[in-house]
Amino acid sequence: MKNICKKLFLIFVMALGIIGGSSISDEIIANAATYPSPSYTYNIFDLVRDASKSDNCTKMVPQGITFAGEYLLISACCEEETKHNSVIYVFNESTKSYYGTIKLPSTAHVGGVAYDCDRDGNIWVANGASVGCFKYSKLADCKGKVLSVAYNRVAELSYQASTMCYDAVNDCLWIAQFDETDSSNSFARCYKVTDKTTSTPKLPYQFQISVPLKTQGISVRGDKMMISSSYGRTKDSALYLYTWNQSSKQKTPIKDKNNNIKSITLPPLSEGVVMGSTYAYVVYESVSAQYYATKDKNGNKCSYPVEYFAAYDIANLYKQLES
Ligand SMILES: [Zn+2]
Repeated sequence: MKNICKKLFLIFVMALGIIGGSSISDEIIANAATYPSPSYTYNIFDLVRDASKSDNCTKMVPQGITFAGEYLLISACCEEETKHNSVIYVFNESTKSYYGTIKLPSTAHVGGVAYDCDRDGNIWVANGASVGCFKYSKLADCKGKVLSVAYNRVAELSYQASTMCYDAVNDCLWIAQFDETDSSNSFARCYKVTDKTTSTPKLPYQFQISVPLKTQGISVRGDKMMISSSYGRTKDSALYLYTWNQSSKQKTPIKDKNNNIKSITLPPLSEGVVMGSTYAYVVYESVSAQYYATKDKNGNKCSYPVEYFAAYDIANLYKQLES
C-alpha cells in the first residue's frame, strides 16, 4: 500500500475499533504504521492457487527468490509437503510477468534458490539437507507451461539448506540454515562453484558466518548483505542490513546509539530476499492458502497478509536505518 492509502486504511480500522468498542487488532494498527512502503508490488495471490501452473496444487507456499539472467525465480513447495512436487515460478525479469513453471524432482522444502551467474551454468535449489542443480538453459523451455526437470547433481550437506543466494560480485554461493532458538545452528556457509558448465559442478567450502535466529532469506551483493528473519503469523519480520567485507569475512550491522542492532520492520512471514542494483525484492509466505486467512494453534490469524512480492529501494532502506 502507498503511504496515503495506508493512512486512510489505518484511520478506517481505528474508527471501526472505536465504534465497535473493541480492539480490532491493536497489533495491526501498531505494526502497519511502521512498515516501509514498497516501490513496486507484484501480486501472486492467484498464481500460488493455480493448479495448472504447478504440480496440480492449489496450496503452494512461496519460499526463495532470485534473479537469474532474463528471469526472476520464486521457489515454492506444497502446503502438505509430501503431496505435490515443489516448483519454481519463472517470471520475466524486465516486467515481472509470469513466464512458466519448473516442476522440481521432489517435494522438498525448497527454502532457497540461486543462480551461479553463468548462462552455461546452473540454478541451485535448497533440497532439505542437500542442494540440487539443473542448467540455467532449462528456464527458457518452460514458457507457458509446467516443465519437469531432474537435478544434474545433488550435493549432500551436514545441515539443512534453509535459504541460499549467489553473490555475483564475489562469485560465491551462500547456503544458510534456519533455527528458531539455537544461535549455534544459525549460520551461513560460503562456497565457490567450480566446473559450472559441466553436469557435475562442485562446491568447495570457503568459510561460515553466524546469522540471526529465524533466518528465512539471505542476499549478498558485493559489500551489502541482507537477511530476512521471521516466524509466526502475528510477529513482524525483521530485515537486517549489513555492510559485508569479503576479505575480512565480517558483516557489520547498523546499530543505534545504545549499540543495539537495528533492522527494518516488515509484515510477518517474510521469506526470501534478493538484492538487485536498485531494489531488494522480498517474498512473503502469508500469500499462501496455508497462512493467508487461517488460524495458528493459538487461534491467531496473520496480522498483515501480503499478496505480492515487493520491491524496496535499497538506498532508502539503508538511509532509514542509518538515520
Ligand atoms: Zn499441494
